[in-house]
Amino acid sequence: KMSRLEPPEDHRICVCVRKRPLNQRETTMKDLDIITIPSDNVVMVHESKQKVDLTRYLENQTFCFDHAFDDTASNELVYQFTAQPLVESIFRKGMATCFAYGQTGSGKTHTMGGAFSGRNQDCSKGIYALVAQDVFLLLKDSAYRNLDLKVYGTFFEIYGGKVYDLLNWKKKLQVLEDGNQQIQVVGLQEQEVRCVEEVLNLFQIGNSCRTSGQTSVNAHSSRSHAVFQIILKSRGKLHGKFSLVDLAGNERGADIAKVNRKRQLEGAEINKSLLALKECIRALGQNKSHTPFRASKLTQVLRDSFIGQNSSTCMIATISPGMTSCENTLNTLRYANRVK
Ligand code: ADP
Ligand code: MG
Repeated sequence: KMSRLEPPEDHRICVCVRKRPLNQRETTMKDLDIITIPSDNVVMVHESKQKVDLTRYLENQTFCFDHAFDDTASNELVYQFTAQPLVESIFRKGMATCFAYGQTGSGKTHTMGGAFSGRNQDCSKGIYALVAQDVFLLLKDSAYRNLDLKVYGTFFEIYGGKVYDLLNWKKKLQVLEDGNQQIQVVGLQEQEVRCVEEVLNLFQIGNSCRTSGQTSVNAHSSRSHAVFQIILKSRGKLHGKFSLVDLAGNERGADIAKVNRKRQLEGAEINKSLLALKECIRALGQNKSHTPFRASKLTQVLRDSFIGQNSSTCMIATISPGMTSCENTLNTLRYANRVK
């Protein structure tokens, strides 16, 4: 088992793709699985699989990433290659961030929340739980024991460019930038946590708050970004932070935008924030002096994730295998490809 890996210095961004299995509905509809993972970092899209024409078949699209996981990969395996190598950096005053990016229904929440993502009651742990587990393990490490570290959790949602505290009845919060360009989410609840169970408890409280009054979990989560943070403080001062972000669904155009005016505005806001996110991650990777974090609320509240020598990021792009999701899948792969 791999553990306690440090991200190599020139490698502060890791971009991975995870394919989920065909689900019952897709199987019933005789949807085709058009995604193959021929090696552990290659994704192929067999766009014209249904066509008999072999020449088109050869026009399959191939994408390369740091890692590619097929539909048999467990959350643990995905974790080992994405968030786990970043955990120790927060004990060294680092800012680590892990994004789940993809179409609604492609597996973002399954990856991040695992067994605790609501409807799905399988027993595999998600990345929230796995990060928490390693944080509490490292807390006992002799290298860090004398730092007097305490662990806190925050959980908030960004919807329509506004921030809502999921640990405080969805209270709407202001985001302020002070003279030193520090970003503050004013009044955000930080709850002290002493064990993995307490972290998961926060997650469950926030999740039920998130979806209360909603007709379906996915209807709401497809339109908002959920940010869960594990914060280390030493004697009351910020020491390190791990932000785990379950992004709004990236599907566009026909899927949501044309339904009505409200949906259109939501779609535009989501597009804007996902574009800003891409630019900020790219700036981090290229050590650019200018990072356009003010371009969206999402990137603004995550400023610490993009600025400074001690920031590292991983992105898990989740994809659906079906032919019916082909356009969205290609969009996801192109986006993930450009983030690096
Ligand atoms: P998203 O958060 O991207 O909208 P979900 O995580 O809610 O998508 O996943 C949609 C459905 O697919 C859920 O029922 C989930 O349990 C299932 N699912 C997603 N990824 C996987 C996977 N890798 N293996 C098995 N089931 C999965
Ligand atoms: Mg979700």
